[in-house]
Parts: sequence; structure tokens; C-alpha cells
Amino acid sequence: MPKILVTNDDGIHSPGLKLLAKALQKIGEVVVVAPAHEMSAASRSLTLTRPLRIDVVDKNQYAVDGTPADCITLAMNKILSGNLPDIVFSGINKGGNLGDDVTYSGTVAGALEGSMYGLPGVAISLVQRGEFDFTYAAELAAELAVQVLRDGLPQGTLLNVNVPPGPIRGLRITRQGAKILRPTVVEGTDPRQRTYYWIGEEALTWNEEHGTDYEALRQGWASITPLRNDLTDYQALEKIKTLNWQIAPEAVKP
Ligand code: MN
Repeated sequence: MPKILVTNDDGIHSPGLKLLAKALQKIGEVVVVAPAHEMSAASRSLTLTRPLRIDVVDKNQYAVDGTPADCITLAMNKILSGNLPDIVFSGINKGGNLGDDVTYSGTVAGALEGSMYGLPGVAISLVQRGEFDFTYAAELAAELAVQVLRDGLPQGTLLNVNVPPGPIRGLRITRQGAKILRPTVVEGTDPRQRTYYWIGEEALTWNEEHGTDYEALRQGWASITPLRNDLTDYQALEKIKTLNWQIAPEAVKP
């Protein structure tokens, strides 16, 4: 029986997490280690300025008062030590993690943190707003888990999976697209008459180039974009090398 570690960024009480864990229990032993509170857009941040606590919520269910990366760190080094998982799942997120959003995403970061331990990681997000129906995404996660456990992933690779609200046409292996619009900032006044700023959800507009995650979702497919932690721009690396930038040694002396 494979061992499956599950986290998310919407928090331990999110229905997306519960349905994912339930679906994965059909194929393996599931342990949930998830943030006690919502940590959306926490990216891969670690909590370093205060101690963390682990709450045992139920059998094989732990809440950590921190980020998804905190959860994986405590899972791998404390909660599961001596009983390490075969795969890490993160999700199912309320809302897509497409294109540029992957670098904001706590959902993606949960799977990424698992990949840093050499484990195959899968982040899964439901591209829907308002009401969320996780049924199809949960079933897809279970099927995908079987295939990834069978075939493995290259060391350090994670899968960023985005699922349309069902029915799903099938799977598309995609590349990361790009958003056109930036987030909005809503300005208001609080009860003490101080101005506040609230970062809002950007309009859903994106660059739908062929082969991107956005294109796949628009057409009703679930997208699978393989990601790595290495953010090096290899094309730019070669180009910038040819520019032969120099600095005079005296310019950098104190
Ligand atoms: Mn979230």
C-alpha cells in the first residue's frame, strides 16, 4: 500500500482537501498535514519568526499553524519520520493555479516542497469560482496518483494539475502560460477611518498561446504542467553570457 502525504493552502477544513484525501484513500494510506488556517498565495514561505505547533485533528490528520511548506517540513522531519511517504499531493485548491500564478501559489508550493525531498509531487487545483464541485477533480487525482506511482517522475519534478469543473474532456500535457492583467487593489476606509488596501482577484484574461495551461482549460481539458524549482532562464543565460558584461574591480571595492 503506497503512503500518500496530503497538504493544501486553503486550510485543514477545506472540502477540497477532504475530498482529495478520501479519493486517495482508495489507493493508499493517506496522512493529511495541512495549515490550520487558509494560506492561499503563501507561496513556499517558511515560518521562521515564531515556533509552530501541531494539532492532531483526527487519525492521520494533523493541522499546523503555518504554511504549506511548514506542513511538509514538519511532516517529513517529525510527524512521518521513519514512515516516509511515496508521493505528496497538494490541493484540491479552490481556484486555478495557472500561468504566472504558480509562483504565488501555496498549493503548488506544497508539492514543490515534497519534490525537494525527492518525492513525486502533484498540485491539483479546481478552476472554478464561487461554488466548488470537487467531485471530478478528486477522481482525476486518484487516477493520476496510480499512474505517477507506477511511472515515477524525474527527480525534482512536480506536476501542476488544473481541472475544469466537470465533465472533463481528458488530459493535456501543457506548458505554463502567461496572464495579461495584473491584480487589482481595492481601496476603502476601515471603521477607525483609516484607509486600507485589499489586493483583489485579477480579471480572468490570459495569453492563450498554443500548448499552454490556459488554452487547455478554456477547451475543457485538465492541464498537467511539469515544473521544477530551478527558475533559471537558460535562453537568457546563454544570451547574457555573449554580452560579456564586466565590472571594473575598483568599482566594487569598499
Ligand atoms: Mn488556495
